[in-house]
Amino acid sequence: MRPLGIFSMVGILGMSALAQQVSSQTPAPAKRIVIAATTVLDGRGQVLHNARIVVEGSKIVAVDKIDDTRAGPVDYDLRGLTVLPGWIDAHVHITWSFGPDGKNAGQGGTTPEATYAAASNAWLTLMAGFTTIQSVGSPADVPLRDAIARGLLPGPRILTAVEPIMGRGEQTGTPDEIRAFVRKQKAAGADLIKIYASGGMTRGPMTMSQEQLNAACDEAKKQGLRTLVHAYRDAVRAATLAGCTEVEHGLGASDDDLKLMAERGTYLDPQAGLLLETYLQYKDKYLAPPYYTEESFAAMKALIPAHQEFIQRAVRVPGLKIVYGTDAVAGAHGRNAEDFINRVRDGGVDPMAAMVSANSLGAEALGMADQIGSLAPGLQADIIALDGDPLKDITAVRRVVFVMKGGVVYKNAAHSAMPVHAGALP
Ligand SMILES: [Zn+2]
Repeated sequence: MRPLGIFSMVGILGMSALAQQVSSQTPAPAKRIVIAATTVLDGRGQVLHNARIVVEGSKIVAVDKIDDTRAGPVDYDLRGLTVLPGWIDAHVHITWSFGPDGKNAGQGGTTPEATYAAASNAWLTLMAGFTTIQSVGSPADVPLRDAIARGLLPGPRILTAVEPIMGRGEQTGTPDEIRAFVRKQKAAGADLIKIYASGGMTRGPMTMSQEQLNAACDEAKKQGLRTLVHAYRDAVRAATLAGCTEVEHGLGASDDDLKLMAERGTYLDPQAGLLLETYLQYKDKYLAPPYYTEESFAAMKALIPAHQEFIQRAVRVPGLKIVYGTDAVAGAHGRNAEDFINRVRDGGVDPMAAMVSANSLGAEALGMADQIGSLAPGLQADIIALDGDPLKDITAVRRVVFVMKGGVVYKNAAHSAMPVHAGALP
């Protein structure tokens, strides 16, 4: 049995050192990799059979029916598996971890323990088949994002909000102050702007006025940044009217609110269970009044069916674009795919729609549809394989046996060597 995860740090570092040497001389031809597959989901809702995927360097150059004379010898034989684009998780908190005392340490930590925990979260997330994530956000995301982008650490491609706008009523600031805050995040390297516009899942008024929200979303647009708004109840409509890109969570939105989102093209990112299940599973680690109380844990149990009902309602709204975001916190990293199971089993989401929500639709919501989210020539070679067919058995999403990101293979595990929950270890 081969060791789990056939990733070699020496190999990666060696390759990047080699690439630097080569780039100072004449450009070398990109390395060509041929993948054989019997079942391919293209990320856009189509299934291809008996195909070859050809990769050169970091990009896909062909996805074709079998033509070995053109494709060349097979480097990775993924026949018998389901091959699809690497998944996109639109909403994680990648630096959020448990501390050395076992208790929830949050996401802003800068100790060596917190730093290694964040690197570990990134590794587990990549091994689970997620090749791009949006962290929403923490300033601690930035060095992790950059180290991964430079090839120094294995992990998914990271987009970060850096510091979010925390709605605190009038104290959030004047519209001009909010605009300045947006520009400050951009200067700090933000890929998007995260906004908290309402209280918690069950109650609380909006924490920003319509005018404040308008200023935040408008300024972000002017700066070329997308906006993700944490919104429940009436904040969903307000965020939509403000022209934000995507509403996070959304519980308590009316059918009319959801229809307005569909009309405006606002993406919805709901969660179907992983987040609450993680809190409940790790209650001892999270329990810390006044933020995480016995009362709030008791309420979470009842909230799981409420989220399922919400998703069942959302999928029936014509034209509403529902993306995949798990809100992964400490304890959930590496288990991001669990929410697919919740969505399909409990939320009434069609399995193919669930896959597309984390592939081409997820990429579209990031403004990156021309780079990731589909298996097509010219796109990044972010390719994963599942031992099983998620269209027939959604639990196949737990069995990610192959992960390639940007043309580099990070995992190519013997099927029998796969643990079901790599990230579930306490
Ligand atoms: Zn969140």
